[in-house]
Amino acid sequence: MAQTTGKTEGTAVAATATLNVVSVGCLHGDLNRLYENVKKLEEASHVAVDLVLVNGDFEAMRTEKDLDSMACPPKYRHMGDFREYYDGKRRAPYLTVIVGGNHEASSYLSELYSSLPFLIL
Ligand SMILES: [Zn+2]
Repeated sequence: MAQTTGKTEGTAVAATATLNVVSVGCLHGDLNRLYENVKKLEEASHVAVDLVLVNGDFEAMRTEKDLDSMACPPKYRHMGDFREYYDGKRRAPYLTVIVGGNHEASSYLSELYSSLPFLIL
């Protein structure tokens, strides 16, 4: 929660803003289930989520070729859900910010403008 207060020409001014964030780690490509769980959380809590923050192991595979750049033993490589969002078949229902972890498919993340392990859906 951010709060600012101030005084303008003898009048007190106060503003309060709340940002509701869901933070997860080790997503391992399970984006659809994440969004389903966030929706359930909203329904159960009656609180709207403003931001989903994925802290590592997002696994942004667009094609099977991206699996070649994945930093993990081959037996753990699988496509995951990201390609549905990348191809436009699905749309992220929440602003989603991804910070890369140690088990990423680095090919897509390295192509991003910032060249940082950081992605916004
Ligand atoms: Zn992990």
